[in-house]
Amino acid sequence: MQAIGALPLSFASRLVAWHAKHGRRDLPWQNTRDPYRIWISEIMLQQTQVSTVIPYYERFLAAFPDVATLASSPLERVLEHWSGLGYYRRAHLAHRAAQAIVDHHGGTFPHENDAITALPGIGRSTAAAIAAFAFGTRGAILDGNVKRVLARHAGVDGFPGDAKVERKLWRHAESLLPEREIETYTQALMDLGATVCLRRCPGCDLCPVANDCIALREDRIDSLPAPRPKKILPQRAVSVLLLHRHGEVLVEKRPATGIWAGLWSLPEVAVDADIVAHCLVRFAAEVAPQTPLPAIEHGFTHFRLTLHPQPCAVLGLPRHAAEPGLLWLPLTDIAGAALPAPIKKLLRDRMLA
Ligand code: SF4
Repeated sequence: MQAIGALPLSFASRLVAWHAKHGRRDLPWQNTRDPYRIWISEIMLQQTQVSTVIPYYERFLAAFPDVATLASSPLERVLEHWSGLGYYRRAHLAHRAAQAIVDHHGGTFPHENDAITALPGIGRSTAAAIAAFAFGTRGAILDGNVKRVLARHAGVDGFPGDAKVERKLWRHAESLLPEREIETYTQALMDLGATVCLRRCPGCDLCPVANDCIALREDRIDSLPAPRPKKILPQRAVSVLLLHRHGEVLVEKRPATGIWAGLWSLPEVAVDADIVAHCLVRFAAEVAPQTPLPAIEHGFTHFRLTLHPQPCAVLGLPRHAAEPGLLWLPLTDIAGAALPAPIKKLLRDRMLA
């Protein structure tokens, strides 16, 4: 990191002044000091864009208006409201955190940073953002957008996910903190990353800290922050069975851990499995496989998954459909069901079209 010379106005002062004119002030989770509402927004905004989050956030808050309601609701209902937002681990952890707040903090969201960070699913940056917005507590944030702003502005080389680089960025973020107006500063930093210092084609002409931005001065914007070192992700493939009859499709509850944990999804079989034999043994169902549908590619953090959808007409009434963990889902209920986004899209496109 290069040293930045003395300036008439600090980094924080320029951001706060910029925010007064250009910051976002009307998002549904702003203009409140309610830590619960702020927390849910911060969790949803991890890995998801504002425009996508807004309708989910509003529906979620209508269904779970406070910590106690979230804590006492079945996980399945929480997952239904998260369905389509992706990264379902966030919903599992939010549910567990709500229960921890009820069990260990009497239902009141904790104020101390350490206690907030101890809750499931809340890391250092998220805890600092909640504490700043809800309680005015002074603390540095360092989410993905802020890493990009600081890496460029201070000319920090290296991949920000690397522990050494991240430590450097944390130190820098702390050194920039203002003594006052932490809430506005925190929001301004987030807004700058989300609306001006974009990954591609940042609006440096509009940036309040452009005059001492090292990436701009040294023409290194495209190379900062350094991308994640390339890694070839393992590829997996599986067939998903669309067993349908009379306007219903068979879905299976996924295990409590692993991908799409706790959601309903289509039954899976190995791509080379004998589908007729499998359905007879697993569901006591006689099926007639139909023309396979085009494969679907889906990326997870650690691997890529190819889904091969295999429609099958069900002949007669299978006995096992009443088993726990299996459900004949009416096609009319697809929109509100706790299904993974690619499965919901497949069913919507192929079964409701
Ligand atoms: S000048 Fe450009 S690259 Fe530098 S912080 Fe501002 S928007 Fe980002």
